[in-house]
Amino acid sequence: MVQIHAVPAFQDNYLWVLARGRHAAVVDPGDAGPIQGFLEARGLALDAILATHHHGDHIGGVAELARRWKCPVYGPAHDGVTGLDRALVEGERLTVPGVDLSFEVLDVPGHTAGHIAYVHATGDDPVVFCGDTLFACGCGRLFEGTAAQMSASLAKLAALPAKTRVYCAHEYTMANIRFAEAVEPGNPALAQRKARDGARRARGEATVPSTIGEELATNPFLRCGEPEVVASAERHAGRRLADPIAVFAEIRAWKNTF
Ligand SMILES: [Zn+2]
Repeated sequence: MVQIHAVPAFQDNYLWVLARGRHAAVVDPGDAGPIQGFLEARGLALDAILATHHHGDHIGGVAELARRWKCPVYGPAHDGVTGLDRALVEGERLTVPGVDLSFEVLDVPGHTAGHIAYVHATGDDPVVFCGDTLFACGCGRLFEGTAAQMSASLAKLAALPAKTRVYCAHEYTMANIRFAEAVEPGNPALAQRKARDGARRARGEATVPSTIGEELATNPFLRCGEPEVVASAERHAGRRLADPIAVFAEIRAWKNTF
C-alpha cells in the first residue's frame, strides 16, 4: 500500500511524497529542505524523483536530492529539464523504484511546452500527478502553449476514471472556486464544493487531492460546453464564441485578470 503525503513548500506549493515501508519517491520537489526534513522525520529513504515540468518551484530541489540520495530522476523529455536519468514521453510506463507503483505518462502541454502527467489508472485507487495543468477547480496559466493544446491536455485528464484522485501542485482552490462562481453561478455542485473546501481550509487542511469526478462537476475549464459557461464567456468577450476551445481561451484569459 502506497501512502501519499503532502509536504508544503513556498507560499502554496504541495510537494508529494509517495511512501511504501521505508521507501519513498517525490513528485516535483521544488525545494530540497522540506523533503529532506520529511524523510528524516519519518525514517524514509528516497529511491526516485519525478518531475512534471521545468518551473523552479517544481524542480528546484531535484539536483540536491539526487546527489544526496543517489537516486534516479524521471521527467519530461521535451521540457528543458536537465539531469534526467530517464526522459519520458506519452505512453511510456514507469515503475517507480522502491515504492513499486506503476505510472503511465501523458503529454499535457499548455502550461509549459513539454509538461507531462503521471497516471496510475488501474486498480481500485487511481491517481494522477498533474503538476500545474489541472488544479482543483482551475487550471494552469498558458505560459508556453496554446488554448487548443491546454484544452486537449485537460480533456485527457478529464477522461480518466471519475474516482481518480487529482494531485496538483498548488493550494489555489478557494480562489479558483470564487472565479468558477463568477463563470457558473447557477451550478449547485460549486456551492457545495465551496462550503466543503472552505471548511477544510478553516481547519488548516489541504483541499487537494480532489477527484476527476469533482472536477467534471465544478471546474469551469472542464465545462466549456455547458450553456452557462458559454454564456458567461461570451458576455465577457462581448461576442459569440465559435467552439469550446474559444470558450476555454476566453475564460482562461478572464481568470488572469480576475
Ligand atoms: Zn509551473
